[in-house]
Amino acid sequence: SERLKGKNVLVTAAAQGIGLASAIAMAREGAKVYATDINPEKINLIRDQILENLEIFELDVTNNDSIHHGVARAKPDVLFNCAGFVHHGTILDATDEEWDFAMDLNLRSMVRTTKAVLPGMLERGGGSIINMSSALGSIIGAPNRCVYGTTKAAVVGLTKSVAVDFITQGIRCNCICPGTVDSPSWRDRVDALGEQLGSREEALAQFVARQPMGRVAKAEEIAALVVYLASDESAFTTGHTHIIDGGWSGQ
Ligand code: NAD
Repeated sequence: SERLKGKNVLVTAAAQGIGLASAIAMAREGAKVYATDINPEKINLIRDQILENLEIFELDVTNNDSIHHGVARAKPDVLFNCAGFVHHGTILDATDEEWDFAMDLNLRSMVRTTKAVLPGMLERGGGSIINMSSALGSIIGAPNRCVYGTTKAAVVGLTKSVAVDFITQGIRCNCICPGTVDSPSWRDRVDALGEQLGSREEALAQFVARQPMGRVAKAEEIAALVVYLASDESAFTTGHTHIIDGGWSGQ
């Protein structure tokens, strides 16, 4: 089907994980997708994922020039802000530098990209902005995720503000709040915890235990929600947290 036909989509952090799965899913729905990442060479498409309407280029969300260049190229109707980094530890473990890094990458990046896309969206009469938050943060707390949860909770605040400020001008802004999702960085986190516990199996069991369904999500399952929020099917939906967490916070 072609649920996104005629739409230009800009995705950040699209080299792997949820960003990549979403870029592919939106391209398959007929959008012109600009899949960007600080490391675009990591984008490794298998044969049936190579689509002529999927373009790849470098975009660093911590850099305004890079963002402006990317926005000028993509002229997006849809922006999927997917970049984010998981810090491990409590408030006592996090340094000022780690706070600055996470706030900049997980939150301020979305401020920069949103500021960059809004003038064009307003001129064209509309747009959908989708921000990557997490179930972890404003919906539910989790151990050793102080910095991460704080940044992801702030994404909810940004989302609601942008939604309400531009609601009469055709702009929608929503955020998605996934539970644990299989991705390259998640596998790294399982490895790291496994080293700490002396057992990767135990580490995996701890991550899976958070999900009452007994498994973590596939990136494609999150991508399906991104497609919906990007499409006009969600035209009456703005300013919301869309929880997709395998029952983690819903029990
Ligand atoms: P990932 O963490 O495996 O990949 C992240 C990508 O971001 C990498 O390709 C990396 O090169 C890119 N990146 C890093 N710095 C960048 C920058 N400055 N500019 C542009 N790109 C940059 O992917 P993931 O685990 O699917 O996570 C994607 C998003 O989803 C993140 O915001 C994450 O916090 C969020 N999230 C993930 C999970 C999960 O369990 N995996 C759950 C909830 C939310």
